[in-house]
Amino acid sequence: MGRPPPPGLRADLRGRGRGEYGIGCPVCRSELFVAFHEEEAFASAGDHVTADPPRAPLLPADPERLDGIAPRLSGMARAAGRDGPARGLTYLFGEATCPDCGTVFPVSARVAERPY
Ligand SMILES: [Zn+2]
Repeated sequence: MGRPPPPGLRADLRGRGRGEYGIGCPVCRSELFVAFHEEEAFASAGDHVTADPPRAPLLPADPERLDGIAPRLSGMARAAGRDGPARGLTYLFGEATCPDCGTVFPVSARVAERPY
């Protein structure tokens, strides 16, 4: 149906299904994972599944202050009774703190840079 989504959006949709993304710190270039699950939301400096790397909590965006496509996606999720994905969007469009260097940066911009 129609044109396929651009690669960045495909990656975004896959990541949202898992609630995890691999991203790079914009300052120190550490490889990070951001994860927003039902029970926790954090950035880890490395793979949190196979190891126990340093973590920092994610800072969710205020749902009332989302802009761009985020309010529409959030509204669609809430209208469908999907509060989990709606909550995940606040983390996707919120900020992360790099556990290695302490830099605070927007999550969505880093997710959009990855082709996978
Ligand atoms: Zn860093």
